[in-house]
Parts: sequence; structure tokens; C-alpha cells
Amino acid sequence: MLKLLNTLTKKEEVFKPIKEGHVGLYSCGPTVYNYPHIGNYRAFIFADILKRYLKYIGYDVMHVMNITDIDDKTIRDSIARGESLLDFTEFYTKEFNRELKDLNIEPATKQPKATDHIKEMVQMTEELLEKGFAYKGDDGSVYFDIKKFKSYGKLSGLDLEKIENNTKSRIKKDEYDKENAEDFALWKAWDQNDGDVYWDTPIGRGRPGWHIECSAMSTKYLGDHFDIHTGGVDLTFPHHENEIAQSECASGHKFVNYWLHNEHLLIDGKKMSKSLKNDYRLKDLQEKGFSPIDYRYWLLQANYKTIVNFTWEGLSASSNALKKLKSYYLNLPEGGKINEQYKNLFDEAMNDNLNTGEALATLWKIIKDEKVKDEEKKATILKFDTVLGLGIKDWKKEQAPENILKLIEARNLARKEKNWQESDRIREEIKNLGYKIKDTESGTEVFKL
Ligand SMILES: [Zn+2]
Repeated sequence: MLKLLNTLTKKEEVFKPIKEGHVGLYSCGPTVYNYPHIGNYRAFIFADILKRYLKYIGYDVMHVMNITDIDDKTIRDSIARGESLLDFTEFYTKEFNRELKDLNIEPATKQPKATDHIKEMVQMTEELLEKGFAYKGDDGSVYFDIKKFKSYGKLSGLDLEKIENNTKSRIKKDEYDKENAEDFALWKAWDQNDGDVYWDTPIGRGRPGWHIECSAMSTKYLGDHFDIHTGGVDLTFPHHENEIAQSECASGHKFVNYWLHNEHLLIDGKKMSKSLKNDYRLKDLQEKGFSPIDYRYWLLQANYKTIVNFTWEGLSASSNALKKLKSYYLNLPEGGKINEQYKNLFDEAMNDNLNTGEALATLWKIIKDEKVKDEEKKATILKFDTVLGLGIKDWKKEQAPENILKLIEARNLARKEKNWQESDRIREEIKNLGYKIKDTESGTEVFKL
């Protein structure tokens, strides 16, 4: 039985889908105004692990991840760059999808763009206006009246009394903290900072607020009540709190059953920030010789609810562990069955709120277990990797370079002539070039040292 820690109830709960055999899953996607940093990617790797595990235990998963291609930041930065909003955001959307692939993150079933769903956002805003949960401000923008929604704050544990005492009335910005909780913008009336970015609609000329984007897109593809919503812990407030308010007031019932949030990532014990120049991108890791999968492996060692501390030493240790795993795996024979005992251990770890650290440890345990047949190990590792997503099924033995192959040929000739001294000398030469050879019945195998 899969247990998940639900932010809404603050409890670990057994997962029960709304519709048997199916899961509706929504993940807040990137705001495409720049490259995500490695901390952002923690959220996407976490959603990928969750989805892979749901599929592994037999669910049919409909996964929606949006692209925020219209908000305060995309407008600000596209204008600064002198590019149209569309060109600017399309570039970063493509780059994001390329990096997802590098991290072996499976594509979502649907990846809707906010600018393709303005109509749905306007409709939801109109509905909230009609039902009295929203009002038009004197600037022409439409705001959500948080005092009208009695359970406002239930996700993030907001102190409602503080809101009551708040003298400020409303906020137009997309991002703000709990202390500044107030009526937020559903629809932002055009002002000159928006340049040529606006839509003419029944609720006026303007653009949607960030929060209504996710409510409208999730409802369109998953319905107004679905199973799981994921995101980084920093999205709990105001973004997810506001999503709940908008969606539940529009529909009149519960929006999402399970809210899952992954924790932060620190860099050398500090928060990531532009000013500290530690907001690393995948490219920074690759420039130091690490692969995106090294990073994925490093992350999986911890449960998603643990704050992790990124260090170059830690990443290097993960990279070495992966190399070790690869050279071990590539020498395992085919044709085995999945080892049930280890599969049970793996499932137990994953059922415990997706404990990937323990799941990885189980993979190493089966490798070290001499009682398990090699071919069984191979089949079991491959099964585990449908969840872990390290890309093991595509691992192949590297072909040795031409000079090594020539030396092997020369050595085979020497062996034929029973010139053992020469054969040993060549073996030593190959070793000095960084390769190891093994004579088998089917010929000479070569491995990189
Ligand atoms: Zn969102």
C-alpha cells in the first residue's frame, strides 16, 4: 500500500484514487524566462519518480505539467531582451524539454501552455465574479476576496486572524509571502509595463494572474476534482493556497485529494541565490564533467521530504557509484527472473512515502548478495530502474578504440604462436592505456578501467 505525506492533512495517508486504476496528476511546471537551476529540477525529478512508481504499481496515470509562459517575469525579461513574448518563452520551453530528456524525466501526458488557455482563465474569473468571490478593483483588475473563502490558509497553515487584521487590501504581484496575504489578482488590467502583451476579453484588456493559470489548466485536463498535485515547497504559499481558493470557490467542492511538496536544496549549506553565484544549472555540472544522471542519482539518495545539501564532493561520489554500477551491470548475463524477495524490499521502501534512498540501498544489497543468481540480479535491477530512471536498459559496453583493438589482435596472434612473453607484454601495454582484457570462450573481452 502506497503511503504519501499529504501537505493538506499533514499526515501520511494511504493513497486511494478517485477512479479505480487511474490517477490524475498535476505538477506545476516551469516559468520559462530562464534556465531552471538544479534546485528547480528537484521538483521535476520528484514528480517523475512519483509518476513512474504509480505506473509500476499498475495505475494508468494522466500527468499534466503546465508551462507558465505569461507572468510578471516572462513579460519583464522578454521586454528587456527586446524579443516577443512568444519567441522568448518558446526558446526556454525547448531548452527545458531538452534538459528533462537529459535527466531521463518522462514527458508529461500533456504540457499545456498558459497563453493557449486564456479563454479558460477568463471563464473561471467570470464564474468567481458571478458567485461573489471576486470583485473588480478601481484599476480594472479582478481580485479574489480571500475573506469570502472560509478555509483560506488550510494548506499552508496561515493564521486567518492576521488576515482579518491586515490593513492592506490587495496585491497585484504574482509572488509574495505569507505576511502579505491579501486579495490577489485573478486578472491584471493592462498597464504600460506589459507593453504589447494583453488580451481583449469580456473582463477587460489585460492578462491572467499566475495562480489562475494552474487552476484553469488543471481543471481543463483533469476535471475540477483530481488525485494528486505536486510542486516545490516554496509553492505552498501563495501559489497553491490560491489555486485551492479559486478552484474550490468556482466548483463548490474539493479540488485535490493529495498535495505533495518536495523540500529545498541547499548548496554547501547555503540557500541558492544569484548573488552568491551558486544557482547552478545543469550546464555548470556538465562543464565539470558530470552527467545529468549523476545528479539524478545523487538526489535519489534522499527522500523528497528531506532538505538536501549539494556539494561537489557528494556529486563526485554519486558519479563514482554510477560508474561502479555500470561496470558491474554490464557483465551480468541475460535470461533471469525478477527476485521477489528484493522486489518486496524495494516496494516497501517506495510505499513508505517514496523512500528512494532505501530503494537505491536495496539495489546495492542485491548486487552484494552472493546467493542471488547473476541473471536474476540483472532482471531485478532493470525492474527497479523503471522507477529510478537511471536509464540502465540503454547502458551498453563501450567499443574499445582502434589502437586497443589492434593490440588485442597482435596479442591473439602472439598467443597462437605460443609466444607468452609477447602476449603478457601486450596485456601490460593495454592496461597502461586504461583497458583490461578478459579471455573467454567466445573471444577476448575488453573493459575500460
Ligand atoms: Zn502552478
